[in-house]
Amino acid sequence: MPPKIAEVIEHDICAACGACEAVCPIGAVTVKKAAEIRDPNDLSLYEKGAGYLVCEGCLTCSRVCPLVDGFVENELANVRKFFAARSKENAGSQDGGVTSGILKSLFKQGKIDCAIGITRNEKWEPKVVLLTNAEDVERTRGTKYTSDPVVAALREAFEKYDRIAVVGVPCQAHSARLIRENISEKIVLIIGLLCMESFHRDVMLEKIIPEIMKVKIEDVRKMEFTKGKFWVYTSDGEVHSVPIKDVAKYARNPCHHCCDYTSVFADISVGSVGAPDGWNSVFIRTEIGEEYFDMVREEMEIMEDPKPGLELVRKLIDTKRKNNAEHFKEVCKELSFETGIRSETV
Ligand SMILES: Cc1cc2nc3c(=O)[nH]c(=O)nc-3n(C[C@H](O)[C@H](O)[C@H](O)COP(=O)(O)OP(=O)(O)OC[C@H]3O[C@@H](n4cnc5c(N)ncnc54)[C@H](O)[C@@H]3O)c2cc1C
Ligand code: SF4
Ligand code: SF4
Ligand code: SF4
Repeated sequence: MPPKIAEVIEHDICAACGACEAVCPIGAVTVKKAAEIRDPNDLSLYEKGAGYLVCEGCLTCSRVCPLVDGFVENELANVRKFFAARSKENAGSQDGGVTSGILKSLFKQGKIDCAIGITRNEKWEPKVVLLTNAEDVERTRGTKYTSDPVVAALREAFEKYDRIAVVGVPCQAHSARLIRENISEKIVLIIGLLCMESFHRDVMLEKIIPEIMKVKIEDVRKMEFTKGKFWVYTSDGEVHSVPIKDVAKYARNPCHHCCDYTSVFADISVGSVGAPDGWNSVFIRTEIGEEYFDMVREEMEIMEDPKPGLELVRKLIDTKRKNNAEHFKEVCKELSFETGIRSETV
């Protein structure tokens, strides 16, 4: 029997989180734009000597796929604490630098020995990397709106390290949580980012930046979605913007089926929406999240009851779900297994 992820791939709702690649015991799946499984019925693989790498149908991957698991109805039900924060050292960060600040402090205190992050070069080509000290964290500051299979890097991390922090968008935070619950407790902390959508690398680098924004990619210093617009800041101080609707239609297909805006499966979620400019909105969701945030609190300025606060977050959760929930439910009807949007609290 083929694994459930085969149907996720076939219906083009694979979020490319990378979890199936991380856990497959024989390396039969790789994730690029989407997961690809080495099919045991493909005879050419045996001719190429790759017969030992074909899928054995063990179904491990089905237990960690966020699309197989499905979404939850009330994303905010598990929020224990909500506040705004800003790291005391935040230069180069996207917003308040809370994400980098947490990782740096945990490395300095010896509480983690690995974290997964994304760097980029001057052409904004992203790369998933394993970070092993506070200096490494510097290289990952700033949001890349492209999609990369962050969770796949756990395959290497599990071989080398015992206390691993994962940073990722909601689909990645979700699969990291499924891996922690089903496969390995080496994931000690999951930091989930807020996320409305992401883009294939070629779409961002070859269409949106040069054609829609009319900017040379090497000149871009920062990209940002905020206040209804997509903004690009260049190194010579220019600011370019277009309405979000002009670029959102180019988002990846799985993002048009995604019903998690705030990383409901993370220990700590971090975003910008809900907090003032230059600050992060922070959602503590689990006991682990409370414990780890307490360890790094000294490094942060905290703002209780920030404005515009949870009201705006709720509005954006609804915006994301308005069409996506319908799209996802339509696909669910075609699947041979049970998934969907469930009402329980995680
Ligand atoms: C695709 C995407 C869409 C987002 N959409 C929203 C949104 O709609 N509303 C909102 O409030 N916030 C959104 N965010 C989150 C926001 O951009 C910031 O990441 C967040 O506020 C943390 O800011 P910071 O200053 O703490 O991050 P920093 O200290 O700058 O750290 C950035 C961290 O993000 C990681 N990272 C960067 N790009 C990616 C990526 N593509 N995938 C996984 N990890 C990555 C880096 O490895 C690093 O750990 C989005 C982020 C991404 C990646
Ligand atoms: S079913 Fe097992 S062998 Fe096949 S891709 Fe999934 S994890 Fe790998
Ligand atoms: S686990 Fe992630 S990468 Fe693999 S099929 Fe599911 S969504 Fe795609
Ligand atoms: S919208 Fe964000 S969380 Fe959802 S699939 Fe796309 S990248 Fe992943």
